[in-house]
Amino acid sequence: MKTKMILASSNPHKLREFREILEPLGCEVISQHDAGIDVEPDETGTTFEENSAIKARAIYEIAGCPVIADDSGLEVDALGGEPGVFSARYGGTRDDSAHNALVLSKLEGVPDEKRTARFVCAITYIDAEGVESHFLGKFEGRIGYEERGKNGFGYDPIFMVGGISSAEMTPDEKNAVSHRGKALRLLAEHIGGKTV
Ligand code: IMP
Repeated sequence: MKTKMILASSNPHKLREFREILEPLGCEVISQHDAGIDVEPDETGTTFEENSAIKARAIYEIAGCPVIADDSGLEVDALGGEPGVFSARYGGTRDDSAHNALVLSKLEGVPDEKRTARFVCAITYIDAEGVESHFLGKFEGRIGYEERGKNGFGYDPIFMVGGISSAEMTPDEKNAVSHRGKALRLLAEHIGGKTV
C-alpha cells in the first residue's frame, strides 16, 4: 500500500517536483488543498528551517499523517543575507522583476568578487509517528548586473553560475545542482532508507 503524504503547499510546480522524486519510492503526495486543509500559518521564523517546520507542524496537527513542507529563498552576502526569509515579499511586493531590480540597485558599485549569493531550500518531514527530520540544500552563485534568461522564476534571471544565469539553464540542468534538487534528494534518501 502507498504511504500518503501531504505537501504543505498548493503550488502545482512544487507538487510536481515532490511527486517526481517521491512517487517512485512508493509515496502518494497530495497537496494540502486536495487534503481539504486550508490553513496558512504565519511564517514568523527567522530562518528557512524554522518556517518550513512551522508549515509542516500546522498541517500535521490537523491531519496526523506524514507531512512535507519546504521554505526557500535567496541570500546575498553583500546585503547581510537579504532578502533571506523575506525573498517572496522583498521590498513589500510579490513582483519578481521588482525584487530583481531592488537587489541590482542595492548592489550598484559592488565588485564581482563581493556579489556572492546562494539559494537555500529547507525541507521538514514529519512522519506518521510525529518524528521530525530536516534537510537543507544550497546552490552557490553570484548576482549579475542585469536580468538574463526566460526559464525559471523569481531571482533566477539575476543569479549567475559559471557564466550563465539560472534562468538560462534547462529545468533538468537546474534540478541537478539546485538547492531544492539537493534538499529533495536528501529527503528521498531518508524516506527510501525506511519502510514507508
Ligand atoms: P517559497 O519557498 O515558496 O517561500 O519561495 C520563496 C521565494 O524565494 C520565491 O518566491 C522566490 O522569490 C525565491 N526563490 C526560491 N527558490 C528559487 C529559485 O529556484 N529560483 C528563483 N527564486 C527562488
